[in-house]
Amino acid sequence: MKIYNTMTRKKEEFKPLNENRVKMFVCGPTVYDKSHIGHGRTYISFDVIARYLKYKGYSLFYLQNITDIDDKIIKRANELGIEPLKLAKENEELYFNDMELLSVTNVNFYARAMEHLNEIINQIQTLITKGFAYETPTGVYFDEFCFEDFGKLSNRNIEELNVSRVNPDPTKRNPGDFALWKKREEEPAWDSPWGKGRPGWHIEDTAISETYFGGQFDIHGGGLDLIFPHHEAEIAQMESATDKKPMVKYWMHTGFLNVGGEKMSKSLGNFITIEKLLKEYDPQVFRFFVLSTHYRSPIDFSDEALQQSEKSLKRIHKLMETIEEHLEMDIKQQNENDNKYIKLIENTGKEFFKAMDNDFNTPTALSALFNFIRDVNKGINHGEISKNVFKEIKLLFNEFGYVLGLTFSIKSSKIDSADEIVNILVDIREKLRKKKDYELADEIRGRLKDIGINLEDK
Ligand code: AMP
Repeated sequence: MKIYNTMTRKKEEFKPLNENRVKMFVCGPTVYDKSHIGHGRTYISFDVIARYLKYKGYSLFYLQNITDIDDKIIKRANELGIEPLKLAKENEELYFNDMELLSVTNVNFYARAMEHLNEIINQIQTLITKGFAYETPTGVYFDEFCFEDFGKLSNRNIEELNVSRVNPDPTKRNPGDFALWKKREEEPAWDSPWGKGRPGWHIEDTAISETYFGGQFDIHGGGLDLIFPHHEAEIAQMESATDKKPMVKYWMHTGFLNVGGEKMSKSLGNFITIEKLLKEYDPQVFRFFVLSTHYRSPIDFSDEALQQSEKSLKRIHKLMETIEEHLEMDIKQQNENDNKYIKLIENTGKEFFKAMDNDFNTPTALSALFNFIRDVNKGINHGEISKNVFKEIKLLFNEFGYVLGLTFSIKSSKIDSADEIVNILVDIREKLRKKKDYELADEIRGRLKDIGINLEDK
């Protein structure tokens, strides 16, 4: 399996640091607002990467941070007149909900920055002790010139970067030195060895990744916009703090999602939240749309593109429906064309997985799938397909569906809606318990138990 590494700008053979175990960290959102379709693009892409690593048999730990304090959150909270952490919590919940709707379900642990304040302070302390960071009246800063590899991910030259910049804070040694701790008197501010304040943005990620993964791990991901300065700063902090190089074996970055050919922004009026998107489109359609472009390429959102995705998805559903019908019909278990179709199934599987092995090339994988659908439809029209072959096709589509996080089979989509109904019942039961209507709450639990669903209150 090959993965494109932003660090070397090459596709490299994938070999985890520790045999079968894969540690993957992807930068999570800054929860100052509702999530938008750009977030959807990036997190669907990494969800498929996670699914495929698991499918290949790797034991994956997928970690994501949540930036729950930063300037944007504080500004927005002040505008709304609420506590910044309350605003962050509300948006975080909306984010989780959106991700679940988009079937982004493979993150093992979400780590909130503000729940790792001690770890952040410890890492800053280490950087000061080792001489990489220094304190001034306005904060604690990382001295870029102390880290000789600065710029290696984004291919930038630190001297040029600093020459062309005006120092925004004369207390800093160099214009490009970035904040590890911002001294602040006003709320919200937390105690630290350097007085009240709050952490800089870059340090939260390395404090979190060091806590759960140690100083080195396999994959670090995020959108392209994060390469500089964010990921560059992360490398400087982590490699200086731990002396282990490289911090990350494979750096992966997703291309940007634009709307109608332009960058999405509130001022252009083309800003689309996931909530708004899902009022018009099925989440699976958006997921299909995202996967029809390679994760590193830019992708342009438009109604036409979404409608096209809807049509393509319908073609798959239609075939699955036809298969179900034929499995109920009185047709032969085997026939003389079986070998031909079994070969076709095998080749399609090979093509699909070869594309996925080639830096998660989902558009090529999908085109193998659609070529297959064309051939199978012909076979069905000629009455060439036996029950056994239909069963094999179903199995193949289940595998594809698992890897892509798409629901192809009608049966499993029924299971999905059954899940949703159970969740509704669980929510209603919770409300009943809060109202102390234990009798009805127990009845819901009892009746779910009758059909094999155990509810445990923890
Ligand atoms: P943010 O909430 O802005 O910190 O972004 C969280 C993640 O979403 C980062 O990895 C960003 O690179 C990614 N992201 C933000 N906007 C877009 C976009 N328009 N297209 C793709 N990814 C995006």
